[in-house]
Amino acid sequence: MERYAVFGNPIAHSKSPTIHARFAAQTGQSLSYEAILAPLDGFAAAVAEFRAAGGRGANVTVPFKEEAFRLCQRLTSRAERAGAVNTLVFGDDILGDNTDGAGLLRDITINLGQSLAGRRLLLLGAGGAARGALAPLLAARPGRFVMVNIFPEIAAKLAAGVADLGEVATGDFADLAGQEFDVIINATSASLSGETLPLPPGIFAPGSLAYDMMYGQGETLFMAQARRMGAALRADGLGMLVEQAAEAFALWRDVRPETAPVLADLRDQLTAK
Ligand code: NDP
Repeated sequence: MERYAVFGNPIAHSKSPTIHARFAAQTGQSLSYEAILAPLDGFAAAVAEFRAAGGRGANVTVPFKEEAFRLCQRLTSRAERAGAVNTLVFGDDILGDNTDGAGLLRDITINLGQSLAGRRLLLLGAGGAARGALAPLLAARPGRFVMVNIFPEIAAKLAAGVADLGEVATGDFADLAGQEFDVIINATSASLSGETLPLPPGIFAPGSLAYDMMYGQGETLFMAQARRMGAALRADGLGMLVEQAAEAFALWRDVRPETAPVLADLRDQLTAK
């Protein structure tokens, strides 16, 4: 049986083993997938041990995505752009990919049926997840693309890194006054500390989508804020999680699993808690 795993710290909460077990059953692939808690100072050693024991590939989550990037001998262009790796393929060497941004895009455009083409897009935050999302979001050809961060210079630096792909205007939250957007994606970790984002009134255009990369039981803090501020559609990041996993599975196994039934089951499990 071919072995795969997800590395993180913490890792007990990870839904990846459940998702990949479902994908394997659905596509008739014989594989195992486990969650591995890597010590904060022992990620590379944990990966080497798993690889030596016959591991064929792995996912990487917080806080190791940048370290995984440095570990790879080869990178896909989207991993190179993201500066972070969430998927490893073990062959003669280690190939690194980043499927987070593609997963986000598939969730928005396919699962939620929202086109980004020609629409006004706002990305909140300029951390790892935002960085990975920039190139895939630009490829969807938004009409206007703005990214804000508490420290706007970080956003400006990320935008400069994708300037050859398209324009991303940057600033801080105060710069949003008087603007409105059709799609607003929250890639900040503000909800984790229970903080509401300083968004000005009128920022959600009629019919707009508020997308939170974070997910949990019920409505996230950002989704609740967006509802109060008039966003017509609100979604959390559970679909992004399942879609990035499907991208990784397809890379490893050369077969694309169906995400809809897996997403529906995960949603049921979350709401039943
Ligand atoms: P990072 O720590 O790399 O980035 C966090 C970002 O949030 C930074 O831009 C930071 O700004 C900003 N931020 C933090 N607190 C606040 C606040 N109170 N107000 C405004 N901005 C704030 O995290 P990640 O990019 O890895 O993750 C971001 C979110 O995306 C998390 O909720 C994570 O769970 C989610 N995620 C979901 C995935 C999925 O599959 N659904 C995949 C990956 C991430 P500053 O520059 O000031 O530090």
